[in-house]
Formats: sequence, structure tokens, C-alpha cells
Amino acid sequence: MIKGRYFPAGSARVVAASLSGTRDRLVLHLENEPDAADAKLTSVSDPIAGVPRKLTFADGGVFEAPLGADVDGLLKTGGTFFARLTRLEANLGLVAAVAVVTIGLVFAAYRFGIPLLASGAAAITPAPVVAAMDRGTLETVDRAVFSPSQLNAGRRRKLQAMFEELSQLAGDDGPALRLELRQGGMIGPNALALPGGTIIVTDELVGLAASDDEIAGVMAHEIGHVRERHSLQQIYRVLGIGFMVGLVGGDASQLVDDVVTQASALQALVYSREFETHADLYSVGLMVKAGRDPLAFVGLLDRIVRDAGGSGETGWLATHPGTKDRREAVRKRAEALDGAGETAQE
Ligand SMILES: [Zn+2]
Repeated sequence: MIKGRYFPAGSARVVAASLSGTRDRLVLHLENEPDAADAKLTSVSDPIAGVPRKLTFADGGVFEAPLGADVDGLLKTGGTFFARLTRLEANLGLVAAVAVVTIGLVFAAYRFGIPLLASGAAAITPAPVVAAMDRGTLETVDRAVFSPSQLNAGRRRKLQAMFEELSQLAGDDGPALRLELRQGGMIGPNALALPGGTIIVTDELVGLAASDDEIAGVMAHEIGHVRERHSLQQIYRVLGIGFMVGLVGGDASQLVDDVVTQASALQALVYSREFETHADLYSVGLMVKAGRDPLAFVGLLDRIVRDAGGSGETGWLATHPGTKDRREAVRKRAEALDGAGETAQE
């Protein structure tokens, strides 16, 4: 039984009353009235903290239960415990969902927000700033890591011509592409793309290649890094937001010095796997355009991996992670493009 207040229909009166019985047969007993009456329930207000529950009857009268009254206990005799449990679980579910969403948002901001910012900043960094980054980085790595290429002049000319051919096909949507040949020293067989379009290929990599198509494939991969602005995005990801703001704002000279003196220039060129995959797929497209074998460079990568003896501390593996998993994706893309090309030609 619940004691509460009753508001008769069409009346301003408030009467002390009590409600008893079961949901199917509720009995309303008004104070000072001897006869209890059966009350046909039509609706019950939802439980809200701090708000009394209201039960409305068929004749328009309303019974208001005091705060904390076990209205559900009265209405659902027998099923009460489970009914409450279900409601509690529903609420816990809601709380858990909110928690998951919140954690998800924080994670997403970290995981995708900085890359998104980096990608936006990379897109609007002024060309002279990017060119200055290339000059500064090249000077530093030339001092610290590289020495002049020992390839003979004829070989160098041939590689330059091959690079030129690929650059033409890559189009001019982005910084002008330029090939620099160097002896790799501690980084061995390797290739790097600087944000301003400077691509460095080491003598050691040229030496490991079994065909020009293998070298062309690596060049095309690095061109992919430049055209998709991976290098710049990576530098921004590594160096952070303040740096982005400075460079995008155009206050370059001091900041470029900072990048270079941080000697993290090479570290900043360690790409994410996602970038590697994009560069691979770009390479396949460009190689098909050039009428060269798009799968060739995977063979070269395999040889580099084998030569490195599984250690990835320096060399291509250090700057191009995930090499081992990539063959299949490259092969699929090449097949897809190849199929499309043949159909178009025949
Ligand atoms: Zn790469």
C-alpha cells in the first residue's frame, strides 16, 4: 500500500489517499470516505529522480505517490525484482556507452586529429618554406651521412633520364622533382624523399638492383611520398603543432634551422605503414603508365631485407617499415591495373 495524494478529475481538491491491490485490480481509498473504489489505471509517469510518480486513472483522477514510494513494486507484483534489474542494466548500458564514446573521442582526437592537422598544414605550407626544408635537410645529411656518388657518369646520366621520364608522367601537381645520387654510408641501400621534391637514391641501392625497372619502381615509390606530401606530414607529426603553426605562418628560417639541428631529419622520414602502402600503390600506377614492370621493385625490397639480415636499425627498413607485408597488396593493384589496361587496349 502506498499513501499519497489524490487529485479528483475536474476538481481543485487535493485528498489524502492510499493505493493498494495489484496492477490488475488497484484499490483507491480516499481519506474520510468509507468506501474504497476500484481504480482503472491508464498511465504511470516515468521514474525521474526528485519527481513524484503520478498515476492517472480512467476517470481523469490522478494519484501522486510520495518520493521514494515503491510504485513499481505495487504495480508489478512478482516481476518487480527483474523489472528493476532490467532498468538498472539499461542505465548501466547507457553509462558504459557514454564512457566508450568519450574514450573513443579522446582516442580519435589523438590518433586522427594530429594527422589531420598535419595533413592540412602540409597542404598549405608555402612552397619556398618547403624548398628551404629540402636545402637544409640535404646539407645536413650530406655532412652527417652521405658522400658523393661513386657511380660513373654514364650510369648517373641514365638514372637521371629514367627519373626525368617518371617525373614527367607524375605531372606537376606539387613541387618539382629532383634526383640526388649519393653514397649511402651508414644507411646503405636506401632511398629518401624530402618534402620539397628532392629524392635521394644511394649507390648501394643501385648496386643491389637487378634491373632498371627495380630502381624505377623505388623512384616511383619515393615520388609517391612527395606527391602525397607524406614527408611534410610526417615531419609535422613528429615535430608537433607549434612547429606547424610557425611554418604555415611563413616564419621559416629559424624553424628550418631547428629541424635540421634536431638531426631528427631522418627520423622524421620514417613513414607510417599507411604512407608506405599509399606510396606503393602510387608506384604501381606510375610504373604502369611508364610501361615498366610495377612488381619489379618488390624483388629489390626483398633483396634489401635479406641483405639487412633481418635487422632494421639502419637502411631501407628503418625508413620504410612493413616492407615484408607489402608484396601482396602491390601484386593485387598491379593485376587490377593490368586487367583494366588490357581491356582498354583490346
Ligand atoms: Zn616509402
